[in-house]
Amino acid sequence: MIEGKQKQAERKAMVAEVEAEVAATCDYLGKRRLDSKVAEAMAKVRRHRFVPAVNQRHAYENRPQPIGHGQTISQPYMVAIMTDLAKIEPASRVLEIGTGCGYQTAILAELADRVYSIEIVPELANPAAARLRDLGYANVEVRCGDGALGWAEHAPFDAIIVTAAAWQRIPPALTAQLAPGGRLVIPVDRSVSAARFPYLDQNQELMLVTKDKEGRLAERNVLPVAFVPLVERSADPAA
Ligand code: SAH
Repeated sequence: MIEGKQKQAERKAMVAEVEAEVAATCDYLGKRRLDSKVAEAMAKVRRHRFVPAVNQRHAYENRPQPIGHGQTISQPYMVAIMTDLAKIEPASRVLEIGTGCGYQTAILAELADRVYSIEIVPELANPAAARLRDLGYANVEVRCGDGALGWAEHAPFDAIIVTAAAWQRIPPALTAQLAPGGRLVIPVDRSVSAARFPYLDQNQELMLVTKDKEGRLAERNVLPVAFVPLVERSADPAA
């Protein structure tokens, strides 16, 4: 099919752009190239199926896109490096917080044994679950709810990826639900102001948290990022 070939070429070009950005940011990432399995997954997943109809012609550009409800589909580079940092293996059980349109979920589903994904906006969670089903991802479960609390029923997880910025600190439920040897990738907003306007007055860092075999946590700042805020209603003791 001609359309299929064209999309494949667009995906290839997108992966090349992502690789170039990985090389340009290698000092932050500590590596010059994506893991080949991550690059393959990026070249395979049909990103245009996750982007709203009006933005179809931009689907393979290396930038985020609006998906409605004030939310976005993440930039391909960001999806790629978060997946790479999480070191997903074929046997991994993965938790994703912030399903959105389900694009990152699909990338994870290509690499992992099982992916559990939580989205707080029902108008996004339901279509994302249907889309992932339609695309044949049978190893994915999407739930509508507050991901800041994790998903205790399916814990522990070998990897947790959070695609919205936590306020000041890493939600304790997430580190608790990380398996020994597990990896948590999460943007944390350290701005001093209490006013949380996305893209304004923000000071976010992507963080990698690792748990060793004895259960000890270690964290490192990877690079500055810009994510929508993680809603943490239920974590607020005053709520
Ligand atoms: N993973 C998506 C990015 C989605 S943007 C992708 O591949 O493009 C972040 C998403 O996090 C938004 O859809 C937002 O509604 C959701 N979100 C914010 N706070 C949340 C919470 N506490 N629990 C679950 N989802 C949350």
